[in-house]
Amino acid sequence: MTHFDGSLLARDSDGYEAARLGAVWNARKPDRHPDLILLAGSDRDVQEGVRLTVARGPRVSVRSGGHSWIGTGVRDGGLLIDLSALDEVTVDAPARRAAAGPAVQGSRLNTLPAERGLVFPSGHCPSVGVGGFLTGRPLHAVRRSHSARQPVRRRRSVDRGAGGGRAGRRP
Ligand SMILES: Cc1cc2nc3c(=O)[nH]c(=O)nc-3n(C[C@H](O)[C@H](O)[C@H](O)COP(=O)(O)OP(=O)(O)OC[C@H]3O[C@@H](n4cnc5c(N)ncnc54)[C@H](O)[C@@H]3O)c2cc1C
Repeated sequence: MTHFDGSLLARDSDGYEAARLGAVWNARKPDRHPDLILLAGSDRDVQEGVRLTVARGPRVSVRSGGHSWIGTGVRDGGLLIDLSALDEVTVDAPARRAAAGPAVQGSRLNTLPAERGLVFPSGHCPSVGVGGFLTGRPLHAVRRSHSARQPVRRRRSVDRGAGGGRAGRRP
């Protein structure tokens, strides 16, 4: 049995419904129910979650900041990997580099680098997660002069490829 740093919730587990409803930021909760919700506690959990889906066959979806208007991360069946606990940010000002977990909100990516004289072109909404922001089509407050993708050297996304499934870094 796989050990997770976070929690793996089945539909009849305590906390499942709160996690399902909490996966979408607004009050329009989708009537869709994943078979399992993994509240990931670490990068390793994400990798193990993807391996689990590859081994069992269901599909995987992910939630970072939960700001999808229609809750696209919440699907019927399969495994929902909730990344909301992965919200660490580190800023290396001399190297002009920041590393952010997928659930880091735009407001933190505005303020932390700014304290060190740097800027990240996040969206205008302070609570959008960087995971969905970067994997979507970011529109940011300074888009006339900067592209949000341009300063992003590596991003992590979930990959269920033939190699057995992994959560990896992409250039
Ligand atoms: C009030 C409001 C204001 C907004 N303002 C702006 C704005 O100013 N600029 C702008 O660009 N956008 C804006 N958006 C849109 C927002 O950027 C997108 O909805 C974004 O996808 C939300 O990301 P999230 O991680 O918070 O949401 P989530 O619901 O967690 O994720 C959104 C989608 O991305 C997928 N996803 C999330 N993380 C990953 C990952 N790590 N790997 C692969 N797929 C992933 C999810 O499966 C889901 O389909 C706004 C949205 C709202 C609700």
